[in-house]
Amino acid sequence: NAVADTVLETSGLTKRFSGFTAVDNVSLKVKTGSIHALIGPNGAGKTTCFNLLTKFMQPSAGKIIYRGDDITYLKPADVARRGLVRSFQISAVFGHMTALENVRIALQRERGASFDFWRSDRNLQRFDDRACALLEDVGLGAFIHTKAAELSYGRKRALEIATTLALDPPLLLLDEPTAGMTEQDVERIVDLIKRLRQGRTILMVEHNLSVVAGLSDRITVLMRGRVLAEGDYETVSRDPAVITAYLGQ
Ligand code: ADP
Repeated sequence: NAVADTVLETSGLTKRFSGFTAVDNVSLKVKTGSIHALIGPNGAGKTTCFNLLTKFMQPSAGKIIYRGDDITYLKPADVARRGLVRSFQISAVFGHMTALENVRIALQRERGASFDFWRSDRNLQRFDDRACALLEDVGLGAFIHTKAAELSYGRKRALEIATTLALDPPLLLLDEPTAGMTEQDVERIVDLIKRLRQGRTILMVEHNLSVVAGLSDRITVLMRGRVLAEGDYETVSRDPAVITAYLGQ
């Protein structure tokens, strides 16, 4: 059915900043289980879209439907509780703590466990097992006891993804997952995203077009706040309007 088929849908989503329209009547559908990329030249409105989806900002008009519910007017904490979170939003990494401690804190927050609950050795062990499994998942199995501050930039981003995964989100919003990374780190993150897609939906803003080409099932191209094109990479990359938009950069 349509609800199960679409995890996130916007219709007519619009954001105006004192007269300037940053996001202009954007309607998009993110299919359950897909990797969907939001791309476009600088200033296209990608970040603003993410801010609207996570309720960091209120839209000026339009609707956001998440797993069949209208979330347009929910508070950020309420949508986060429903699993609509972006990596690096909740998941500020604490440099003085180890990778394991960072993920443990994220798990603790997710379960909303009380301090007394946490003092039970058995529960601590259970959460540590889960944290280790998550770190293993993101390729940080060998860095469990490394302080976050001592991890390379790429591994720090992987740690941020692990802390986001602690919330077990059905939809993962990745905000420029490869930004500022070395080629080697980019490869690692691409592998990670491929693995993460099992049982998840991913919506990402990404500048690196080869990453987008390699990962995305569907791409929405934004330009000056509007949807310029939509489709798979083949279709979108051949679209004359898209080519012009990127050449104009
Ligand atoms: P992108 O992420 O695609 O580069 P943004 O969503 O950051 O684009 O920005 C889209 C447009 O909205 C830009 O022209 C930007 O200057 C403007 N904008 C973003 N946030 C604000 C704000 N808080 N106030 C005014 N203008 C903003």
